[in-house]
Amino acid sequence: MQFLSNFVDFQLFFYLCVMEHFIVSARKYRPLTFASVVGQSSIAQTLKNAIDRKQLAHAYLFCGPRGVGKTTCARIFAKTINCFSPDANSDACGQCESCKAFAENRSYNIHELDAASKNSVDEIRNLIEQVRVPPQIGKYSVYIIDEVHMLSQAAFNAFLKTLEEPPAHAVFILATTEKHKIIPTILSRCQIYDFNRISIEDAVAYIEKIAKNENIDYESEALHIIAQKADGSMRDALSIFDQVVSFCGKSITYTKVIENLNVLDYEYYFRLTNAFIDGDYCTALVIFDEILAKGFDAQYFIRGLNSHFRDLLVCKDTHTISLLEVGAAIAESYKKQAGICSVNFLFKALDITSACDTGYKTSSNQRLHIELALCKLSNITSAHKTEQQSVKIIETSEKTKKETGKQQPEQANTDKIEKKTQININPDEIKEKTTVAARPETVSIKGFSSLTESITVETKDIKREENDILQINEHFTEEQLLTAWKNCADKYVKVNTRFASAMMAAKPVCENGNIIVFNVLNTVQKNALEEKGIAKKICSYLQQELKNTSLKLDVRVDQSGDQIDAPKLYTDSDKEKYMREKNPELANFQATFELYDNK
Ligand SMILES: [Zn+2]
Repeated sequence: MQFLSNFVDFQLFFYLCVMEHFIVSARKYRPLTFASVVGQSSIAQTLKNAIDRKQLAHAYLFCGPRGVGKTTCARIFAKTINCFSPDANSDACGQCESCKAFAENRSYNIHELDAASKNSVDEIRNLIEQVRVPPQIGKYSVYIIDEVHMLSQAAFNAFLKTLEEPPAHAVFILATTEKHKIIPTILSRCQIYDFNRISIEDAVAYIEKIAKNENIDYESEALHIIAQKADGSMRDALSIFDQVVSFCGKSITYTKVIENLNVLDYEYYFRLTNAFIDGDYCTALVIFDEILAKGFDAQYFIRGLNSHFRDLLVCKDTHTISLLEVGAAIAESYKKQAGICSVNFLFKALDITSACDTGYKTSSNQRLHIELALCKLSNITSAHKTEQQSVKIIETSEKTKKETGKQQPEQANTDKIEKKTQININPDEIKEKTTVAARPETVSIKGFSSLTESITVETKDIKREENDILQINEHFTEEQLLTAWKNCADKYVKVNTRFASAMMAAKPVCENGNIIVFNVLNTVQKNALEEKGIAKKICSYLQQELKNTSLKLDVRVDQSGDQIDAPKLYTDSDKEKYMREKNPELANFQATFELYDNK
């Protein structure tokens, strides 16, 4: 027995009774030489080279996952070093007495101990006793200790001395799936070989070879499913293959295999992804229900969906396409679907499915948990579309802006002042507007487009003007200041009469060369000017008009209360007071009819 475990042997024995022909062939394809070992070519080559050069170590440690060929290699190794007449390639001849004994499973040169079941000190002491006895035929006695990490501490200690100074005819091959559990004193006495998982490609190629020789028809996708299910173990792959053959007979189809192995059909994932792209959450939910009805585990499904997105992602680039491990026909479907998914979509989808998988166990309503994820997946494209749309609108508006700029340069000049007032928008306001633009569902597309257009224009102008402004710091006369002030007030008449008249009323004074004092009547006015950002706008307007960026506007409440030179603004109570002074009868009139305001 070389390639298959005891369990598989039993299974094969069972099949032997039912399907004699198949079993005989399967045994025919067991790896008998290093060259035929699947998926471990570098290790096989190294071992063979060591035999060639007659540089044998006394102890080897074979590490790696289950079913990847550790015991197979150990057996081939034992057979090869004991062959009486190895061929030119240093492979065992298969003809000599020793080789025949190996082939018939009756050789005394090989001793196997399963440390998982025999891990006591006594078992190891028995083995140590055996080690002293030289082999009857052949040069070496090979001791294979499987699952060596299962040995008890005492057994390890008993074994150490022998491992350190074994007799010349003894070779130990320790095998383990858990290298980290081996104590350093053992590790340091062994030559260590790390076995790889069997790639899907290698497993498929090997099963294909067996199927062809057995005249079994197969679909490539079916063999890929078997290899995937085996998860890197050749032994599992073969045992699954046996199971499938006994179910399907001489023709292995994808449909039969997924039915027999209870694997979720790729087709579901493709249909679901199409639904996500269309934003069709209803279909997605119905498909999910269908999957649950078939008895599939919900978490198994979400993990499968996650791998599906991963597979689509690797199809997006020629460098990563080799990472796609599926049959040719399904690979075509993947490439086709990858063509209609954006990378952005796949990243978001992977994110959603991973989060869903992580949170699945702790979710109180697991079905709803997955359904929510499906809804989120259906929403990716529509959310992305609106984003793209807004980007497009901004782009076109910029384009149109440029074109109109070219066609009407004169108009652009006359509009300059108009624009400059637009420039003086404080950054918070712009931010606010942009946020609105990012949530386009709140405005109609038409309104939205004009809004983004104005934002784009404003932002561009601000940037340009800011650059200009940064470089200037010119001197100005009082007369220039007054003109600029008046212009600013004139502009404000259109927007806000109250503030404009306040500006008209005040006479700006320049202090320290760069502080413009704006006298207002009361704190209410001062606060309003500052809170509404008007003071800032006036300031930047003056900075531009006077070409001086160091200018600051200082809004002050006029304490004197009587500005003789400047015309005064009259409030309602001022007027009432004035009228009372002019006509004392008014007071009586008010008293009679109780016409006081609440002040
Ligand atoms: Zn031989």
